[in-house]
Amino acid sequence: MAYVDPGRVIEKLREMGARRILLQLPDGLKPQVFHYFAELSKYFNVIVSSSGFYGACDTGTMDEWKNVDAVVQLGHTEIPNIDYKVPVIFDEYTYRDERSFNELDLSELREKKYNRISMAYSIQYRESAGKLVELLRKKGFEVSVGKHDTRLKYDGQLLGCNFSPLHDQDRWADCHIIVSTGVFHSLGAQLSVDKEVFVLDMSEPFRLRSMKEEADRHIRRRYANMARALDAQKFVVVVDTKIGQYRMKLAEKMVAEIRSMGREAIIAYSNESSPVEFENMMADCIIFTGCPRVATDDFDRYRSPILTAQEFNMIFKKKGNGKYIMDEIVNVDPMP
Ligand code: SF4
Repeated sequence: MAYVDPGRVIEKLREMGARRILLQLPDGLKPQVFHYFAELSKYFNVIVSSSGFYGACDTGTMDEWKNVDAVVQLGHTEIPNIDYKVPVIFDEYTYRDERSFNELDLSELREKKYNRISMAYSIQYRESAGKLVELLRKKGFEVSVGKHDTRLKYDGQLLGCNFSPLHDQDRWADCHIIVSTGVFHSLGAQLSVDKEVFVLDMSEPFRLRSMKEEADRHIRRRYANMARALDAQKFVVVVDTKIGQYRMKLAEKMVAEIRSMGREAIIAYSNESSPVEFENMMADCIIFTGCPRVATDDFDRYRSPILTAQEFNMIFKKKGNGKYIMDEIVNVDPMP
């Protein structure tokens, strides 16, 4: 792995007169920590965060911010509409993959007569997605990259909680292709849009894999989870205190709605939600207003049904007309 050059970050930190900084590295870049720390330590007092973090929605805690002038986060890009409490410098990282896309099997696209393609990517694969756009155009496909909303920085960029570039293209496109690793982004995407989503998983030999069946299976499991919540009497509505997941107004609205249904509801703060906390509260149902993927992807860890705000709307307010609605975050509330 090539080392990330911290030159630009050092320059910015010096310009802002920072002295103490908190350094966050995602797991994939943790092997860089000694090099990066050594470089930054020539100029600043650096504290490395050893806790896991979720990306640009999670830049540390109030306690950590009290002791630093700035946060440096590697590997992610900012969420532009978050009002970060201390300056955060995002050192984006692009994975370079020297493999060629020339041999990529496009027969499924041709068989299904998918000619108009919407291209999207997780941030580390922005460059690879650009190369794939060029190749598909050369091979005669029409390719477009969807516009982003205010939670994203680039057109075509996706977060696991925001698929705005795909919504921008869903009417025009015959299908979407997502360049990323694993299925985190592509599964969320297929839950969120109508057209078929294919993932090009950069951690595997290149192939386009449809997410349709996996998403259908996932939706069936989500409906089973939602059905278990129908008779719930005691609801815990969770507000996540990570800066990019903080949706207090939504939680307050939900509590009012639950009470108007004649049921009990409380609001609970959480930074790292643990199933045990809610088991001890004897909650019949948890509504998680932070990262929607906690409810949609990690629900097996919870004994009580755990729903997103949209899933609550679907079953108790009959929203969606029978169609699954992915809970996406457009913006969050400013933290007090
Ligand atoms: S809220 Fe969840 S999906 Fe969205 S950026 Fe944070 S961790 Fe990713």
